[in-house]
Amino acid sequence: MHAQPTGQTSAIEQILADVHRRTLGRRDGELADYIPELGKVAPDPYGIAIATLGGKLHCIGDVDVPFTIQSISKALTFCMALELLGREDVFARVGVEPSGDAFNAIEFDPVSRRPYNPMVNAGAITVAGMLRDALGGNAFEILLERFSLAAGRALELDEAVYRSEAASGHRNRAIGHLLLSVGALREPVDPVLDLYFRQCAIQVTARDLALIGATIANMGENPVSGTQVFDVDAVRDTLAVMFTCGMYDYSGNWAYDVGVPAKSGVGGGIIGVVNRQLGIGTFSPRLDAKGNSVRGVCGFRMLSDELGLHAFDPTNRGSALVDSFLAR
Ligand code: GLN
Repeated sequence: MHAQPTGQTSAIEQILADVHRRTLGRRDGELADYIPELGKVAPDPYGIAIATLGGKLHCIGDVDVPFTIQSISKALTFCMALELLGREDVFARVGVEPSGDAFNAIEFDPVSRRPYNPMVNAGAITVAGMLRDALGGNAFEILLERFSLAAGRALELDEAVYRSEAASGHRNRAIGHLLLSVGALREPVDPVLDLYFRQCAIQVTARDLALIGATIANMGENPVSGTQVFDVDAVRDTLAVMFTCGMYDYSGNWAYDVGVPAKSGVGGGIIGVVNRQLGIGTFSPRLDAKGNSVRGVCGFRMLSDELGLHAFDPTNRGSALVDSFLAR
C-alpha cells in the first residue's frame, strides 16, 4: 500500500508550495563528483514531501525522481546494528560524539580509537562491518528489505552508482584498512566496503524519505502499512545521533536553526524526523561546501519556522510540553 497525496489544498500544502517557490531559485552549489556517476545527474530537480503519522502525504515538486540514498543509509544501518547487537556492543565500537570534521575525514577519537560517530564514513563502515558479521553474505538483501519496509515499497540498487563508487572509492578503502588496523573491523575488509557501497547506492525518492522518516517518527512503525520496521529503543538512539551528527560538520548550526533530527546524503537527499509527528524528505542535488543539499537546507529552515517544527519551539505539537498542555 502506498501513501496517497491528499485531495484538498490544505494549509500545509500552501506552506509547502510557498517554501518550494521561495527556494527554487537557488542554483548555487555543486554536484558531488568524487563518485563519477553522481557528477552526471540532472542538477535541477527539487522536491519536498511530508508524511504524517496518519499516513497522509503532502508533496511539492519532483518527489518521484530517484536518486541514491548515500549517507542517509547510515542512520538506518545504525538502527539495525543497535537492534542486532544491542547498544553496549555497538557503543564499544563506534562513539556518539560529533566530530566537527568532514564526513570522509580519516580520523578516530584519539582516546578510544573508535570512529567518532556512525554518521561519518569511518563510523558507518564500522557499522557495515557489524552488519556483515551478524548477517553474513545476505546482509545487503536483508538491509534492502528493511529499507523497503520503511519506505513502503520495494527499493532497488542503482547499479551504475554502486559500480562507480566501488571503482573509485579509494578514500573509503583507506578508511576501511585503518579500521582494520585499530581493530574496529575484522578481515576481510572488501566485503564490508562492498556492503557500504551498496547501501549508499540504494535508490529512493523524496516521497520515500518522507515515509521512512514518518516510520522513524512513529516509533518504528510504518504509518501506512502498520508494519513494525524498527525497534523503538533503537529508534530513540538513532534519533539522538541524527540530531547531533546527522548533517556532517553543519550539525550544530542545523540543530540551532532547524532543530529536527536529520540526515543528509551527497545524492542530494535530506531526511528529517519530527518525533511522533512527521517525516520530511527533500531532494535537490546541488550541494554546499559541507556536502548538504543547498535547497534542502533552505527548505528545511523555512519549513521548521513556518510549521514550528524545532524540537525546542514551544509551539511544536510533538513536544511533550504542548502535548501535556493540550491533554489537560
Ligand atoms: N557513498 C558516499 C561516501 O562514502 C556517502 C557520503 C555522503 O553521502 N556523505 O563517500
